[in-house]
Order: sequence, then structure tokens, then C-alpha cells
Amino acid sequence: MEPAVSISDLADEIRDGRRAAVSRAVTLVESSLPEHRLQARELIAGLPAPERPAVRVGISGVPGVGKSTFIEALGIRLTAAGHRVGVLAVDPSSSRTGGSVLGDKTRMPRLATDEHAFVRASPSAGTLGGVARATSQAMLVLEAAAYDVVVVETVGVGQSETTVAGMVDTFVLLTLARTGDQLQGIKRGILELADVVAVNKADSVGGSDREAEARTAARELAGALRMVHGRERAPAVVTCSGLTGTGVEAVWDQVLAHRESLGPDGVAGKRAEQQQEFAWALVRDELEHRLRASEGVRRVRAEVMHLVLTGGLPAVEAADQILAAYDGDAGRPSRVN
Ligand code: GDP
Repeated sequence: MEPAVSISDLADEIRDGRRAAVSRAVTLVESSLPEHRLQARELIAGLPAPERPAVRVGISGVPGVGKSTFIEALGIRLTAAGHRVGVLAVDPSSSRTGGSVLGDKTRMPRLATDEHAFVRASPSAGTLGGVARATSQAMLVLEAAAYDVVVVETVGVGQSETTVAGMVDTFVLLTLARTGDQLQGIKRGILELADVVAVNKADSVGGSDREAEARTAARELAGALRMVHGRERAPAVVTCSGLTGTGVEAVWDQVLAHRESLGPDGVAGKRAEQQQEFAWALVRDELEHRLRASEGVRRVRAEVMHLVLTGGLPAVEAADQILAAYDGDAGRPSRVN
């Protein structure tokens, strides 16, 4: 990233809604280089808060459930209705495998070329905490550039849903009808995060009538969720087809209904709590980083771990020794970049 313009110029251009500036800023906040992190901080501090909080929506589901097709269909409808839509993807798989579930194909080609939309396929690889940091800051960049709807997409793997659910106002789970076993088809815990559940591919594209199947699945799912959450708090369950567009607006209506149910104070309160949680996540991330970087730990780790491996040292004592080595190093003033 070449420093062609100053951070304050970049902030001005973002405020004017310039896409190129937004793109550069998102690249900046994704960078893990310490100097970029400091610049990102300065940038974020200089950005205006939007007049009205943007609608922050998380969308999750297993690969192939139809996320990109759905988000494109939704995004195009929203921009046609006068919204500015930003889409960010959280893809922790890229940090582990080097490959990317989200980034390896041209996703959302129509939305990506829509002048009222901004699509960033995949943030840089890194720890989930690092990806969360990048995504949180990218959301602020988009909101300062007057994107009033921000969609954060995540693949339903690992802990990414929990991370994304902790960054958005409303969390949407896309799922598929699998007669009889749809509850098993959805990872435990994710259903608890969902504010809206949409059974996707409710269409007859490709022959068989999946619409009826989807409706049955949605009914069963709704019943099960009412048993878990109680009637009042159970998330809405709807059917849709990102491919044909049927039901996409109904999903959006449920997102707005959820937001309405929170009310402005509820949204503000939820975001404040998320910030608190995020602060701790950053602390944990940084501590982990420092532990790895600690000279003292480096000096003892190979030997301690060798002893553990050969049965010469119980794990509990090994942990004590590592921590003692770390504490011996700690106490230097430093800060989270
Ligand atoms: P993602 O991996 O969750 O982003 O899923 P994609 O949007 O890439 O879709 C995966 C496959 O399912 C593609 O072949 C799509 O054409 C297909 N697909 C996506 N949405 C629908 C839908 O609503 N109905 C049907 N029948 N197929 C769909």
C-alpha cells in the first residue's frame, strides 16, 4: 500500500464516499504491519460517525448453501431501493489452509460492479481476532462513506459465526431443507446465534420441487426453535431462493423486524456490549502474540516441551515454567496496535 495521500486526505475522500478511497482504507485496516495498524487507528479516529447507524447484518451458512447468490440478490434490490450496500467477508479458512473458501471464485459479479455497492471478497489471512479487528474497522470505514447497509458474510466453519454475530445487529443463518434431519444439519450453537433463519433454495430450479420441502423444513425448524427459545424469543424462520429472488425481500423484512424489536436503544446497547467483548478479544489476541514473541519463552520452550513429550515434566508444571519465563519478560510498556 503506497502512501500516496495522507491519512487525513484519505478520511476526506472516504467522507465523500469515493470507492477507491474506501478500497484503499479497507486494505489498510486489513494489514497486519505495525505501521499500517497505527495508520488505521489514526484513520478510524478521524472518521465521522454516520448520522444514523447503518444496518449491520451477518449472514452465515455452510459452503454451497447459496450465500453469495443470496447476498447479491439482496444487495441489488437494496441499491435499487436507494441504499448503499457494503459487503465484507470473514473467511478464517484462508488463514489455516492458505486457500480461501470465499475468495477463489468471482463472487457477486453484478453487485461488485454496482456503483452503490462495495464488495470485498476476503480479508487477509490471520487469526480470527485479527480478521475481526479488520472487519470491525472496515465496517466503520464503510459507514463513514455513507454505506447504510453493511453485510458481513461468513462461512459456517469454526468460530467465525460467533465472531461475526458479535459484530452485527442481526445475524441471519441460511440453511437448506434436509427432510427429517435439518436440525442435525446445523451445527449446535449456531441456531442459538441466529436472529433470522432462512431455508434457502426454495425453488424448482433444476427439476425437483424443493419449495414444498423447504416450507416443511421451515415449519419443523420453527417448531423446534420455539421449544428452545420460547414463543416470544424464537427467531423468525422463512423460506427463500437467492437464485429466483423469491422470498429475499421477506428475509430482509425479518431483518428489519428484528432491528425494530431491539429499538434504537437496544441496538446502541448491543453495540456497546460488543465493543466491550471486542476489547477483551483484542487483549487476548495481543497476549497470545506477546507470548509467542517473548524472548524468555523462546529460551525455555523447546526444552520444556521436550520434557513434556518424553514424560519428564507434567503439563501443569510445564505451563508454570512457560508462564514464569513470560512474566520474567513482561512489564515493558506497550500497547495493542
Ligand atoms: P455459497 O458457497 O454459500 O456462497 O453458495 P453460492 O451462492 O456460491 O451457491 C452455490 C451453488 O448453489 C451455486 O451453484 C448456485 O448456483 C446454487 N444456488 C445458490 N442459490 C440458489 C438457490 O436459491 N436455488 C438454487 N436452486 N440453487 C442455488
